[in-house]
Amino acid sequence: MAAKTNVLFGKKLKDATNKDLYYAIASIVNDEVHPQWGETNHTYEKKKVKQVFYLSMEFLVGRLLENNLLNCGLLDDANGALKKIGKDPEKVYANEPDAGLGNGGLGRLAACFLDSLASLKYPGHGCGIRYRYGLFEQRIIHGHQIELPDYWLQEEYPWETRKGEESVKIHFRGSVHMHRKIDGSLEFHYKNTDQVNAVPYDIPVVGYNNQVVNTLRLWSAESITRDTDYLTSKSSKYYHHLDHKHSIEQISGFLYPDDSSYEGKELRLKQQYFLVSASIQNILRHFKRQIGAPLSDLPEYIAIQINDTHPSLAIPEFMRILMDDENLGWDQAWEITRHTIAYTNHTTLSEALEKWPKTMVQELLPRIYMIIDEINERFCRGLWFDHPELRDVIPELAIIADEQVHMARLAIVGSFSVNGVAKIHTDILKKKEMKHFYQLFPDRFNNKTNGVTHRRWLLQVNPRLSTVISEVIGPNWICRPSQLISLLRYSKDASFLEKVDKVKLENKRSLASLIYDRTGIKIDEHSIFDVQIKRLHEYKRQLLNIFHVIYLYNELKDNPNLDLTPRTFIFGAKAAPSYHLAKEVIKLIHTVASIVNHDPDIRGKLKVVFLENYNVSLAEKIIPATDISEQISTASKEASGTGNMKMMMNGALTVGTMDGANIEIRDLVGDQHIFMFGLKADEVLNYYEHGGYTARDIYNTDDRVRRILDQLNEGVFGSQEIEFKDIYYNILYHNDPYFVLKDFDPYIETHELVEQAYRDRSTWMNMSVTNIAYSGKFSSDRTIQEYASEIWKINKTHP
Ligand SMILES: *Cc1c(COP(=O)(O)O)cnc(C)c1O
Repeated sequence: MAAKTNVLFGKKLKDATNKDLYYAIASIVNDEVHPQWGETNHTYEKKKVKQVFYLSMEFLVGRLLENNLLNCGLLDDANGALKKIGKDPEKVYANEPDAGLGNGGLGRLAACFLDSLASLKYPGHGCGIRYRYGLFEQRIIHGHQIELPDYWLQEEYPWETRKGEESVKIHFRGSVHMHRKIDGSLEFHYKNTDQVNAVPYDIPVVGYNNQVVNTLRLWSAESITRDTDYLTSKSSKYYHHLDHKHSIEQISGFLYPDDSSYEGKELRLKQQYFLVSASIQNILRHFKRQIGAPLSDLPEYIAIQINDTHPSLAIPEFMRILMDDENLGWDQAWEITRHTIAYTNHTTLSEALEKWPKTMVQELLPRIYMIIDEINERFCRGLWFDHPELRDVIPELAIIADEQVHMARLAIVGSFSVNGVAKIHTDILKKKEMKHFYQLFPDRFNNKTNGVTHRRWLLQVNPRLSTVISEVIGPNWICRPSQLISLLRYSKDASFLEKVDKVKLENKRSLASLIYDRTGIKIDEHSIFDVQIKRLHEYKRQLLNIFHVIYLYNELKDNPNLDLTPRTFIFGAKAAPSYHLAKEVIKLIHTVASIVNHDPDIRGKLKVVFLENYNVSLAEKIIPATDISEQISTASKEASGTGNMKMMMNGALTVGTMDGANIEIRDLVGDQHIFMFGLKADEVLNYYEHGGYTARDIYNTDDRVRRILDQLNEGVFGSQEIEFKDIYYNILYHNDPYFVLKDFDPYIETHELVEQAYRDRSTWMNMSVTNIAYSGKFSSDRTIQEYASEIWKINKTHP
C-alpha cells in the first residue's frame, strides 16, 4: 500500500488521505483482477462456451471496493493494513460514490445476478448504459423532497475501462429504401440517419474466491465528429455542432427516475434503442469472431435475457441485423431471434406497462417500426386462422393496437421464455394478466423467484453475524447458502441465541449513532427498530405504516402511562419527482416525526426517523440493525420484493401481506415465525373487478381511522397550516384504491402481537434464527442456478 500511495500520489503512507487510500487499494485490487479478467475471457473464447447476456436499463451496483476485496480474498488484509496505520476502513471505502445506475429493486436484482453468475462460474455478462447522472440525490428541506443531480463520475471511477476500439454506430431517424435484387429478394438501405457512437466502458464482475471475472459493459453515447473538425469552419457551424454533440451525449446523460411507472418520453425510447442496438451488434460481432458457427446455430451459443420490457426492442433489432446486414430471410431470422431472447416480467401494474406511441417509434426508428409491424401482422394472421376462439380478443393481444406499440406483447411473442419473479406473480400472469398468451404459449411461461446475493447482503454487510454463524455451522454456507438451514439445530440453543441477540444490539447501536450523526435524533437502542425502506409508492403503503404511528401517538396522548415497548420507526424512500401523492407521504412522515419526537407526553416511547437519500450504501447500514421488516404492499401488487429477503437474512422478522415473495418466506418458516395480515390477492382482485368495498364505511365506523383522517384533513399535524387534504381526498373520494383503511385493523392487531412477541426474548430470537436458517433459498445463487439450467442452458466454466 505504501508503494501504491507513493507511485500514485507521490506521498508517504502517513500523509495519505482517506481518498488517496481508496484509490491505492482500488488499484491493488485492479492489479489482482485484471489478469484474471483476461484469463476468464480467454477461457470462454477458447472453449466456445455458451454465454448469457443480461440486458438491463439499470444496474444498481452500489460501491464496489469492499465487495471486490471480499470476493478476491483481500478484505481481511486490507482492513488489517488500514487499522494498523490508524485508519477506519469504513471511512476509506466511503470515498467511492454509489453507482446509482438504477431506481430500486429491478436494478439491484441485475447487480445481484451479476455477482451470482460470476461466483457460480457461469459465463454471463451485463449490458447497460453508462449514465453520467444516476438516480437523483434526495435532500429533505422542511419535509419536502428536493432532487439534486447525482454526478457520480465527477472524479475518476477506478473500475471502468474505456474500450474505444469496440465502439459501434447507432442510427436514428432517416428514411428506409427498398431495392429488389436479381434473385427477387428485397434489400433495405437507410438514408440520412442521425448517427451516434456507442462507446463501451467495461467493469469487472469479480466472482467469489474463484478467479472468474465477468464483464458489465456500459455504453456511453458520443458524437461521431470531433470538435477539431470544426476549428476552421464558420462559428455558426461550430455552435451548431456543439448543440448537436450535446443532444447526442444526452442519450446516456441521465437515468429516468421513475420506478414502476412508465413515461412516454422520446429520449427514454432513444436510450432503450441505444442500449439494445449497441448490445446486439456487439453480441453478433462476438459470435462471428469468436464462435464462427453458422448463424442458424446462434441459440446454441448465446442467450439474451431482457430485464423487463425496457430492452424489448432487442427483438426487432436482432431481426434487422440478421436480415439487412446478414441477408437472412424472415423465417430464418425469426427462428434465431425467437430462440435466443428470453423475457422477465416484473410487474402487472397497468401504469408500468410500456406502450409507445406508434408515430414516435415510426419517426425515431423507421426500419425497426417496419419490422415490428410485420411481426404483428404475422402474429395476428396466425391468431385469426389458427385460433378462431381468440378472434374477439385480438385487439387485446395485437402488438400494435390503438395507435400504440405494446412492448410486453412484443416481448412475449418474440421470446422463448417468459418468467415472473415470484410464484404468486407468475400465477397472476398466467391466470389473469396474460391468460390468453398463456393459452397460446403455455410452455413459454415459467417462474423464477428473485433472490439477493447473500455475499453482499449478509457476509459483507453483517460481519458480526457472519462470524457467529460460521462459529456454529462452519463457513460452507458462504458458497452453499442452503446450508444455513443447519442453524435450525441451534434455534433453541440459549447461548447461540444470546450471541445473535448481542450482534443485533451492536448493529443497532451502530445505526443509532449513524442516525444521530445524520439527523440529530437520539434513539433508544433497546427499542424495536421497525423499518420500511424502499421506493415510495402508493402500492407499497408507507401510508399504512405512518397511520400506525399516528394511532400509537393518539393512544399515548390519551393515556401517557400506556405500557408500550419503545419503538423506533425508520423510513427511507425516494419518490419519483413527478409523483405528487408520494411526496405528500414523505411530508406526512416528516410532520409526524417532528411532533412525535418532541412531545414530552410520549416520554421517548416513539421515535420516527426518515433517513434521506436511500440507496444501496444506506441499505447496507440499516438492514443488519432491523428488528421488523415492513413488507406491507397491497396484495397482488408487489411482484416479488427483494428487500424482504435481505432483511430476513439478517434476522429481521417480517410484518407482511400475502404478496410477492413474502408468501414463499411464510411457506418456509411457517406462520409462527412471521407476522402476516390483511387482504389476500384474490380478495383484492375481486374487489377491483366486482366492487363491494367502500372506504367511507370504515371511516364511519372505526373511531381510530376517523380520528386519523380528520387530523390529516384539519391540519392538526402541523402548527403552520400543514394539512394533508390530498391524502384525505384520495382515500375517501377515490375509495382508497390501495385498501389502506381495509387493512388498518388487522395491521394494528398484528403489531400488538409483534409487541408481545418482542417481550419474550427467547421466543423472539428463536423466530429470528429460524428466518436466517431458511433464508438460503433467497440467495440469488439459487435463482441464477434456475435461470442457467431451465432457461439459458449454460454450463459452469470449470465444473
Ligand atoms: C433491495 C433494494 C431495493 C428493493 O427493495 P424492495 O423492498 O424490494 O422494494 C430498492 N432500493 C435499494 C437501494 C435496495 O437495496
